[in-house]
Amino acid sequence: MRAMILDEIGPIDSSPLRLVELPIPEPPPGHVRLKVSCCAICRTDLHVIEGDLPQQKLPIVPGHQVVGTVDALAPGCERLQLGQRVGVAWLRHTCGDCEFCTAGKENLCESTRFTGYHADGGYAEYATVPEAFAYEIPDAFGDIEAAPLLCAGIIGYRALRRAELPRGGRLALYGFGSSAHVVIQIARHRGFEASVVTRGESHRELARRMGAAWVGENATDLPVKVDSAILFAPAGELVPPAMESLKKGGTLALAGIYMTELPAMDYERHVFYERDIHSVTCNTRDDGRELLAEAARIPIRPHTTTYPLSEANRALQDLKNDRIDGTGVLVMDQS
Ligand SMILES: [Zn+2]
Ligand SMILES: [Zn+2]
Repeated sequence: MRAMILDEIGPIDSSPLRLVELPIPEPPPGHVRLKVSCCAICRTDLHVIEGDLPQQKLPIVPGHQVVGTVDALAPGCERLQLGQRVGVAWLRHTCGDCEFCTAGKENLCESTRFTGYHADGGYAEYATVPEAFAYEIPDAFGDIEAAPLLCAGIIGYRALRRAELPRGGRLALYGFGSSAHVVIQIARHRGFEASVVTRGESHRELARRMGAAWVGENATDLPVKVDSAILFAPAGELVPPAMESLKKGGTLALAGIYMTELPAMDYERHVFYERDIHSVTCNTRDDGRELLAEAARIPIRPHTTTYPLSEANRALQDLKNDRIDGTGVLVMDQS
């Protein structure tokens, strides 16, 4: 099979992913194999490739927003059928019996393992996943539309929950990339007013088209204080202005898996009056199933840009340089 493989950590501008032929993987017991249709790219892929996250398996096939059809079932699989369409996300293993797993917080399990980081992911024509961590994809979505939901959607959904937006409340989104453009669709469908702060003009244009109540370049220009905010940009320096934009009692959710250092904050100006910071760590499988069900009801329509698998380096360079509106998706049968 064709795959894009990372041999060594390196800057994405050096095109560190290499197109190779690999044997089609055999699914171990309890795993299914997918014939991959497409795989959306994510900022976390950049953090893996460029070494912002601690190095795990190398070489590695990145990619954790994978859509395909089941083409092999190993012994021990009992839920899925051959030919069924499924998705693979970032979370692929939890222990099931630690204090976090048994408390419904499997996202915090000490033994979590992730797709495209600890195990090969979806930048390839075939991928395997534990059956228990594969998601059925609702019929409401085509393959390319479904792919961004598997991380951008799921993490955005959890970030929105962690932002504790009160009924009828005002939300601010900092950064308007893949995840934010899904979240704004959920927020608006639930009747929230959403404002967007982002640097890129084309991102601001997409936010306007998606019904943002207010769109601008700086947090300090927000016309009114908000009940909740979600910071998607991995930029620690945005935390103080985002905190300052909150009403008393407001909550800022930090959606990223990686963020640059947080600057010092002034207690009265940025934190006092019961304003809270909630980080967001991965997701539970329930988050994933709930997101997919709600996304199908709305229905969410991700804005996508497709690339052939062999152009994964270019796709990620475009992501890093803010040249993609919505989500970039690698498509296997595009050449
Ligand atoms: Zn556990
Ligand atoms: Zn991701």
